[in-house]
Amino acid sequence: SKNKSCPLDIEELGRSSWNMLHTMAAYYPEKPTKEQQSDMKIFFYTFSNFYPCHTCAEDFQKDLKEMPPETQSAEKLSQWLCKMHNRVNEKLGKPIFDCSKVFERWKDGWKDGSCD
Ligand code: FAD
Repeated sequence: SKNKSCPLDIEELGRSSWNMLHTMAAYYPEKPTKEQQSDMKIFFYTFSNFYPCHTCAEDFQKDLKEMPPETQSAEKLSQWLCKMHNRVNEKLGKPIFDCSKVFERWKDGWKDGSCD
């Protein structure tokens, strides 16, 4: 079993990062200003430049080139991020997440009241 006070490994770093990114996308404005849209794009490019797992960052930068951030609304951003996360899931052989459930998972809570 892992000692949580040790430095983060790739998995723990990944979980923490996805937690933050999906929650940020869920609480992004429904009608963002042009400046908010531009800032959010810059955020993701900057994030990909400093993400402290080199191979993860490299692949994420490639994915960003193919699929630039969709920042028109919380819905758009959350759907886009879900697809980006699914690309990583696919690469790692993890289950593909149903993106229609993204607000249930990251904002409103599961309909049955459970957690994850
Ligand atoms: P995670 O993939 O961390 O997911 C956490 C939770 O998010 C899941 O339990 C689920 O409830 C939910 N979820 C899953 N998929 C989606 C989705 N598509 N949309 C919304 N919610 C979802 N690891 C590597 O080994 N190699 C890499 O190249 C790599 N690249 C990464 C790139 C980025 C940008 C990030 C943030 C992480 C990367 N990781 C990489 C880490 C990897 O994605 C996982 O975070 C890690 O393997 C732990 O996986 P997990 O099974 O705990 O669930």
